[in-house]
Parts: sequence; C-alpha cells; structure tokens
Amino acid sequence: MEYQYVLPTYGQAPMDMARGEGSYLFDTEGRRYVDFCAGIATCCLGHANPIVVEALCEQAHKLMHCSNLYGIPGQAALAEQIVEHIIGIPGKIFFCNSGAEANDGIIKVARRFGHRRPAEDGSPRYEVITFNKSFHGRTLGSMSATGQKKIQIEFDPLLVGFKYVDFNNLEALRAAVGKETCGIMLEAIQGEGGVNPVQPEFLRAVAELCKEKDLLLMVDEVQCGFCRCGATMGWKAVCPEIQPDLVSCAKGIGGGFPMGCFWVSDRAMDAEGTALSSIMNAGSHGSTFGGTPIACATSLAVVKELQRGNYAERAKVLGEHIKSTVEGWNLPCVEGVRGLGLLRGVGLKKGAFSVPEGMTPAAYVNSLCREAGLLACPAGPDTLRLIPALNIPEEVLEEGLALLHSVLAGL
Ligand SMILES: *Cc1c(COP(=O)(O)O)cnc(C)c1O
Repeated sequence: MEYQYVLPTYGQAPMDMARGEGSYLFDTEGRRYVDFCAGIATCCLGHANPIVVEALCEQAHKLMHCSNLYGIPGQAALAEQIVEHIIGIPGKIFFCNSGAEANDGIIKVARRFGHRRPAEDGSPRYEVITFNKSFHGRTLGSMSATGQKKIQIEFDPLLVGFKYVDFNNLEALRAAVGKETCGIMLEAIQGEGGVNPVQPEFLRAVAELCKEKDLLLMVDEVQCGFCRCGATMGWKAVCPEIQPDLVSCAKGIGGGFPMGCFWVSDRAMDAEGTALSSIMNAGSHGSTFGGTPIACATSLAVVKELQRGNYAERAKVLGEHIKSTVEGWNLPCVEGVRGLGLLRGVGLKKGAFSVPEGMTPAAYVNSLCREAGLLACPAGPDTLRLIPALNIPEEVLEEGLALLHSVLAGL
C-alpha cells in the first residue's frame, strides 16, 4: 500500500496485514506468519478469539459509548475483577485507553500525594525516580518518565521532576532520593528496554525504601501484567509479597482492544487513616473514552478467560520451555534467554555475526525471522523479544521455535 498520507513515525516492515487466526497472522498477499509478537504483548488470547469477539459484538449491539457523565456497569464489574483477582490488594481503578495514559495518570496521583504529604519545609514533593532503559510511553509525561534519551530527542524541554538511575542499583537509587522525591516508578521486567528483570532483592529493597521515605511505589505493568510473566502481575512473578501503591496497566488487558487502567491502593497515607485512593476526587482526572461500555465488556471477557484457563501458569510453563529450548541449541550467536513467563528476550552476542550498516543486531535478526515466516520484536539493540499469545497452541509454538532455530543457526 501507499502510505503517503500517514505520518511516518514507525519503522514499518514491508507488508500489510489482512487478518489473524489464533497465533497466525496473514498478510494481504496471503502469506502466513507464526505470531510471536501478538500485537506487542496485547493480543494475549490470540487473534479473532471467539470469546473476545462475541463479547465485543454483543456489547456493540447494545451500547458502545455514552461518556462518563453516567454510570457504566461494565466498569464496576471489570474493576472488581481486576482488584480482586489480578491485583489482589484493596484499591480502586481508573480506566483509560493506553499505557502512556495510565502512566500519566499515576504520575498525577504521585504529584497530588506530594502536595498532601509535602516535604518537611512544607513544599510539595513532585519528583519521581525512574530507571535507565525503562519505557513508560510517548506522551509528554510518560516520555519524560522514560529513561531512554532516544525517545526524547528534540522534544525538550521535558516535564520537570524525573531522575533516572541504573536499574537494580540500590546505592544509586538511595543517593538519588531527595526532599522533592514522592515516588519510585519501575517495570518488574523492562520490556522495550531489553527484557531486563528486576532482581527480587532490589524490588524488596525499593519497597522498603518507599516505606522509610514515605514514597509511592509505582509499578508499570503495561507489558508484564495480566498473566504474561507467569503470575497475574509481573511484580508477583518476582516478589509476590510486595505491595505497590500505584499500578498502571494496558496492552494485554484488552486482548487487542484499546484499553488501559491504573490502580490506586486504598491503604492509609497518614495517621488519620486517609485512603491514598481518596485523593483522586471528582474532577481530578478524566478521559472521554476511558472505560467505554464496549472496552469494558471486551476486557471483562479477556480477564475472565485468563483466569478460567489459568493462563498465568501456562505462561510460566511455556516460558521455561522456550528458555530451555533456545539455550539448548548452544548457538554461538545466542547469549542466554532472559525474562519470565512469555515475556522472553533472546540475547544476541555482539560480534558473533555481521549486521548490515544502519541496523541493530536485533532489528536485523527480526527481519530475517519475518522473511522466514516468524514475527517477533526487537527489545533494545541486542535482544530479540518473544511475546506470543498466552494461549498459543503447543504445536504452533514448536513451529515458531523451529523457524527461529533456522534463522539463528544460519547467521
Ligand atoms: C507499551 C508500554 C507503554 C506504553 O503503552 P502505550 O499503550 O503504547 O501508550 C508503557 N509502559 C510499558 C512498560 C510498555 O511496555
């Protein structure tokens, strides 16, 4: 197709997608691909899943959108499912449409918290510490939170109030906390930044530090949440005992339908027992399309199916299988498989193979996979990310791994 009227912000592959079926995608020329990308970890139940499609169509016939000027019963039902069965800690949900919006939302909550719990001299706290190689989105707020220069080129001045430190480095983090700091924000597994898991002892220490300094623990679960990493949430796959204050979600929550949310803990934030969630009162935040009836009905079907099929456990088992299979090939170009559950990164060894000018090793290997009929996704310059649907049939997983082997062995 000709895309001359579309702003060229994406480095797109030279193919046009026509339809999907489970863990296969078909382009407009009828070529079939094994899908280890799943819409960048969004299509968690595969393409055209009848359970998801039916919920969506049924709601479309009733009511797609009516605005948040009225109660939307689907929001109540979905929020209950998420709080009770996915997050598992008392709290409240705000619905939005994407990961960046969810992160902007928790940044706003952190700033309001910083007003209610100011520094000793009475000045509001506003600074959020995030980590190098993190990815939090592309809006002004979430981009400013992102610890990657390449995302921010020529969009400065950035939003004030962010500081970036090295991931898993407690000393650097401790040194960065100042009187303005009100929160620490992290991904349990950095997705875009290279599939870098947080170390359990680091995550525990961050949670302790937050208690000690009265900071909010803000967890970006946009990519690693909703059963992808072998537990209902990414942080639970690493350290189930920690309790975040704010959690952002999107991607898998909608099974491919645009949906996002953030969760705010009901925990007390002062001696009077004021609930943290109570600081976001009427008028403090909003979104025209946040939590539409059609998004909620679709997402509710996804969340119920994730639980019914115990897909967190399945992600854990299949993820271990991917790791042992790929590492078992003992290929000179592979430097281990990182990640948890079905968020996996194949490390590509620097200098083990030649890469065309102007391409990263990950982008190059990804293009070879695509030519071989396998869709994956780069994560940083040296990591090939494998993020298939959580219900990928075992034989399709094997088919994809065989294609991956042929590409890697041919380097
Ligand atoms: C994808 C992603 C985002 C941004 O989500 P959008 O829906 O693209 O705005 C934020 N955080 C993480 C961890 C992500 O993987």
